[in-house]
Amino acid sequence: MSADAPITHDVLTIPRKVPEGPLNLVGLTRPAFRQALIAAGTPERQAKMREAQLWQWIYHRGVRDFSAMTNLSKAYRAQLAENFSVDIPEIVSRQVSADGTRKYLMRIAGGHEVETVYIPETDRGTLCISSQVGCTLTCSFCHTGTQKLVRNLTAGEIVGQVMAARDDLGDWPTLGEGMGERPRLVSNIVLMGMGEPLYNFENVRDAMKIAMDGEGISLSRRRITLSTSGVVPEIARCAEEIGCLMAVSFHATTDEVRDRLVPINRKWNIATLLEALRAYPRLSNSERITFEYVMLKEVNDSEADARRLLKLISGIPAKINLIPFNEWPGAPYERSDWDRIEAFADIIYKAGYAAPIRTPRGEDIMAACGQLKSATERAKKSRAEIAAEAGLSTP
Ligand code: SAH
Ligand code: SF4
Repeated sequence: MSADAPITHDVLTIPRKVPEGPLNLVGLTRPAFRQALIAAGTPERQAKMREAQLWQWIYHRGVRDFSAMTNLSKAYRAQLAENFSVDIPEIVSRQVSADGTRKYLMRIAGGHEVETVYIPETDRGTLCISSQVGCTLTCSFCHTGTQKLVRNLTAGEIVGQVMAARDDLGDWPTLGEGMGERPRLVSNIVLMGMGEPLYNFENVRDAMKIAMDGEGISLSRRRITLSTSGVVPEIARCAEEIGCLMAVSFHATTDEVRDRLVPINRKWNIATLLEALRAYPRLSNSERITFEYVMLKEVNDSEADARRLLKLISGIPAKINLIPFNEWPGAPYERSDWDRIEAFADIIYKAGYAAPIRTPRGEDIMAACGQLKSATERAKKSRAEIAAEAGLSTP
């Protein structure tokens, strides 16, 4: 992609069809949740207790059928069922890689689809979730960036991916089993699937608040990592309003190369980005920033690059995650040779930084970093077909 290519596509943005019928409780913030209960006839003095009971059923137990919520009276259950639904994305397909990685295709309102990837490791299980259908940005090495159809996910669709994966994995405590009795299969969340999470800030924030809430999914904020391509104005906000760990798609050590790889760099360059990152650990009271660095043969993988990278990040508590480039059909780059990647890692490591090389997971099912792209678009549907599926009239 040339340096004068646009930062964003000529994007086809599909507004979400406002759902008719009962209000979905999944994804509502605590104040909105309580307000909804009151509006549907729950006495105000009971609302707090009802909210806690419902959160426990929905987010601790994975129960979404009101009739199974046995600590509520039958009449109240019926009242809830009349007014609300408890909806999460539907898993339409699941592929399991030879290495145990699972890639889910999930369908959301309007017939759109996103991908969610579960990566089991010995000491943890990481769920990589999507924040948008497609991505408005056009990073030249990223498959998702070639997808033109874009819509922001709702908070319910974001936290709902976690719930759907826990359903599939059997990761809810059974009745009688306490929270935390069994190791959790989904122990970590990374916002590294499709989309730029900081371009869907409010929904990502609301979803992650539910993920971190003790009565919600109940994961520590240190087990959640948000990856951004560098939306500088939202970085401080992410520290203050979410407080999760931060990863940044850095990928280059000069503005000239980063302009080409991560075009948002033309809006907020390396110096501006580093300034925002420098403030992050203090603002979020968190430890290290993860610098993601995709290894592209003869583009950004020289010894000089490694040394420049060290100079740039000096003073920032950092970990450098080297990602061997994952190929996709028509990709304009090649993966760096292994000895090059190792030599690069060695320079970083000797300077005192952790420099893990990210083992590609689920490559055989196109689940690895940067390979996601939903089938809706792969099938190259026409604008009219997509609009028809979303229940919209064509312009
Ligand atoms: N939009 C966000 C999060 C999703 S991308 C971001 O850009 O940070 C998750 C990570 O995968 C990013 O670091 C991204 O740069 C990287 N990535 C994208 N395409 C890749 C590819 N083909 N091979 C390896 N990593 C890739
Ligand atoms: Fe979007 Fe991230 Fe892919 Fe860039 S790397 S196109 S920001 S998903």
